[in-house]
Amino acid sequence: MIPIADYHLHTPLCMHATGRPADYAAVAVERGLPEIGFSDHSPMPEVFDDWRMRIEELPRYLDMIAEARSLHPSLPIRQGLEVDWIEGGEGWIESLAGRVSWDYLIGSVHYIGTWNFDHPELTSHFSVLGTKAAWEAYWRLFGDAARSGYFDIMAHPDLIRKFGHRPEGDLRRYYEPAIEAVVAGGCAIEINTAGLHKPCAEMYPAEDFLRLAAEAGVPLTIGSDAHAPEETGRDFAAAAALAGRCGYRQLVRFSGRRRTEVVLPAL
Ligand code: ZN
Ligand code: FE
Ligand code: FE
Ligand code: ZN
Repeated sequence: MIPIADYHLHTPLCMHATGRPADYAAVAVERGLPEIGFSDHSPMPEVFDDWRMRIEELPRYLDMIAEARSLHPSLPIRQGLEVDWIEGGEGWIESLAGRVSWDYLIGSVHYIGTWNFDHPELTSHFSVLGTKAAWEAYWRLFGDAARSGYFDIMAHPDLIRKFGHRPEGDLRRYYEPAIEAVVAGGCAIEINTAGLHKPCAEMYPAEDFLRLAAEAGVPLTIGSDAHAPEETGRDFAAAAALAGRCGYRQLVRFSGRRRTEVVLPAL
């Protein structure tokens, strides 16, 4: 029994996930999740990379979510997107936001310029740019995205740590301005448990980040970033424990882009 909503679920439309939304919903029901939401990688206006739905597939995405709802009527199922923050892409985000009655939009930074830094085959660029410059560029983009006001939740806040790259010294010098941007943009952040299964072997964000976020009153969700049905709700007890240890007492839920608070369960 996992009494926590999982808002970060993918679908096969992104071409690197398996299982239909109805299959994720079945696992959620089996594990006792009270609510789930899909946030597949957002389409772009033109072909962009090989890990997202095409814009023509957006209706199919919504149909698959509707199918999951009809097969699992007792489970609230939200519809969202994981939207890439690309410099100069604000007009497209506005267009996407207006097309569908989304429950929430998750903002994500996966690109520094044209470099998809979290792609396992593109990590050699870390040594070209240098860890410190990569971190500086990442957090500038993260801050811009958070401050933009387009997003309800910022995904995997320190994704730049995925392969273990981190600069010397106290990293709160990066976290503090990022959290200020989140507060200014009025969005939540997520604990993303997928990091546990990546080379960094820790959830995103780091504990220091989460403590500062809790102190600043930043709302929190938990997401598995599931790319397969059996990953739904994965490691949520550990995530809830981490949130509690860092000072959180509440989580938030979204419906129609409106946020409500629920008590953080003790697991
Ligand atoms: Zn993905
Ligand atoms: Fe992501
Ligand atoms: Fe994701
Ligand atoms: Zn993600």
